[in-house]
Amino acid sequence: MDLILLGAPGAGKGTQGALLATRLAVPKIATGDMLRDALRQGTPLGLEAKRYMDAGELVPDSVVLGLVREALAGPAAQGGAVFDGYPRNVAQAASLAGLLDEIGRGIDAVVYIDVPEDAIVSRMSGRRTDPETGTVYHVEFNPPPAEIAARVVQRADDLEDTVRRRLAVYRETTAPLVAFYEDAGIPVHRVDGDRAIEQVQDEIMGLLGR
Ligand code: AMP
Repeated sequence: MDLILLGAPGAGKGTQGALLATRLAVPKIATGDMLRDALRQGTPLGLEAKRYMDAGELVPDSVVLGLVREALAGPAAQGGAVFDGYPRNVAQAASLAGLLDEIGRGIDAVVYIDVPEDAIVSRMSGRRTDPETGTVYHVEFNPPPAEIAARVVQRADDLEDTVRRRLAVYRETTAPLVAFYEDAGIPVHRVDGDRAIEQVQDEIMGLLGR
């Protein structure tokens, strides 16, 4: 199954995507995670991406397309994938359709995780990541276990000004993908993401018929 998770930054795509990927036994292809990995490793691609990420802007389409192409070619992704944070504009959606078409696949469903913007801003200010495992927590809603709490870090692009820019970019260029996929006749499941992690997950699994 090839599944796209849409939703604003901070809507819970990463958290829900990780749970879904495990339950569907497919990898999560998360371009943001891949870019942060590249940055940590200090690759030229990571360094190029950094200035866009720090500003809350999208990294050029060609950069993310290369990452997604590579991930899809891996053995783990032969049975499908959960796409988190990709595509983020109509051009990327077209590229993804092309990549999947080359391997005889297509998007089976889109899950749109809907969270109001004021809730997003407060979520992102409390978001913390475990640098060792990449697991994402929230200081209030999903606190890290005591042994991990001391090492969690805040993402540089979760600071307020960058969050606001990322939300504007989402509104202008990514949100139109909901209508884009609806118009393309692909099932788009809307989920109220402003609830507990397990509730959202259960609803998504139900909507997918799993
Ligand atoms: P995320 O972790 O998905 O919130 O992504 C963090 C940042 O990485 C974004 O604000 C962008 O700068 C960049 N990024 C991630 N995915 C993409 C994408 N599909 N296209 C362009 N830029 C991306």
